[in-house]
Amino acid sequence: MSRKPEADYDVIVAGGGAGGVGAALGAAQAGAKTLLVEKYGFLGGAATTSNVLAYCGFFQQGEDPIKAVGGVADLVLDELRALGLPCDPFKSPTTANWIILLEPEAVKLALDRVLARHNVDVLLHTRVAAVTRTADRLEAVTLAGMDGRARIAAEAFVDATGDANLALLAGMTCRSGNEMGHLQAVSAPIRVGGRNPAVPIDRQAIIDAFKHYNTHGAWPVARPDGGIYTEVPLTGEMWWMMFDHPMEDLSSRSFTRAEQAARAAAHDYVQVLRQGVPGFENAYLVQTGPQIGIRESRHPPARYELTGEDLLTGRQRADGVARAAWPIEDHSVPGKPVYRPIGGAGFADIPLDCLRAKGLENLCYAGRVIGADSTAYASIRVMGTAFATGEAAGRFSAKG
Ligand SMILES: Cc1cc2nc3c(=O)[nH]c(=O)nc-3n(C[C@H](O)[C@H](O)[C@H](O)COP(=O)(O)OP(=O)(O)OC[C@H]3O[C@@H](n4cnc5c(N)ncnc54)[C@H](O)[C@@H]3O)c2cc1C
Repeated sequence: MSRKPEADYDVIVAGGGAGGVGAALGAAQAGAKTLLVEKYGFLGGAATTSNVLAYCGFFQQGEDPIKAVGGVADLVLDELRALGLPCDPFKSPTTANWIILLEPEAVKLALDRVLARHNVDVLLHTRVAAVTRTADRLEAVTLAGMDGRARIAAEAFVDATGDANLALLAGMTCRSGNEMGHLQAVSAPIRVGGRNPAVPIDRQAIIDAFKHYNTHGAWPVARPDGGIYTEVPLTGEMWWMMFDHPMEDLSSRSFTRAEQAARAAAHDYVQVLRQGVPGFENAYLVQTGPQIGIRESRHPPARYELTGEDLLTGRQRADGVARAAWPIEDHSVPGKPVYRPIGGAGFADIPLDCLRAKGLENLCYAGRVIGADSTAYASIRVMGTAFATGEAAGRFSAKG
């Protein structure tokens, strides 16, 4: 790519989750001068902002873990291993799917290191706040950071904000939620410390304790099965997803209500463990996460929308740039996920057009922003797949 004199970068990536990190590494590996902008003080996206402590989508479903995602995502796993995280495929006892368990502090440091090794410029505490465009191209973004506002120009841009914030600022008309405007539930995974490791976690005791809590508690749980839990590697803490909340809309008021409810519920739920579940007598809440886990927000227009049919039939295609292998995991009803397997050989190809903005030549999407109908979205949003769509978006953007 030859950069115009007025362009500060070849590629600017908005958002430092799995999609954004994949995009920045893909662009840098392809030789582009790359800037990654993230509004928090650390990278990782949902893994570090919302306690989403498992990479899904790296493997196909089945008896053995067959890899579906490699490339720059493997560089991230190598950095995590160097920090002592095993990153071995782990079969989730609740969903029987292959995942990679995470520890958030290792994720933050591993991502800092892998981006530095690839000479990606990173700006934390910086938000993409405005966009300058022509009819069919983006020219620059205005960044709002600790030192005020700055206009930065580039040849190409990647929206990896999860919420399509760059596309929205560019004036694109986005769909909220599914085709009917219904949003998937938000959830608040928490970390619980102080459990006695000599006492195995008794799911039935959790179920019984919450049966009682649900009769009088302020935040009745929608998961009568005790929720999804596992151990956070390197810490002995319990990771636990028990609180789900329906979202009416994307307003700040609705998110405020959800955040406040999640915090209050987390406090109650740990008390329920302490009082009713053996081994949790001294348990305490380690963290609710800097923010609640948002499964779904806006979908910007793409040149192609991956369909549920593509996934259910395991459609393979010549223009595929990434693989979707995580089962369709629908959270339309809070606390009651419904899973449907990927058909065919156990993966579906994601074509480049899902990553390309409709009507804008130099804007790509990465991670959960890519073009997908509501059924396909319930698969492609996971972080393993996000690394892969990010890498492809970055490589394409670097070509100019
Ligand atoms: C409760 C819950 C459980 C889940 N469980 C799993 C799981 O077990 N495994 C799995 O793989 N996936 C899981 N998912 C899905 C997954 O976490 C997300 O879909 C995934 O993180 C998407 O990656 P992303 O990079 O597209 O977006 P995100 O991870 O959301 O990252 C986007 C980043 O962009 C930043 N950003 C946003 N706007 C701006 C802006 N204007 N300027 C600068 N930065 C900005 C954000 O701060 C964030 O860091 C879960 C999701 C939820 C909510």
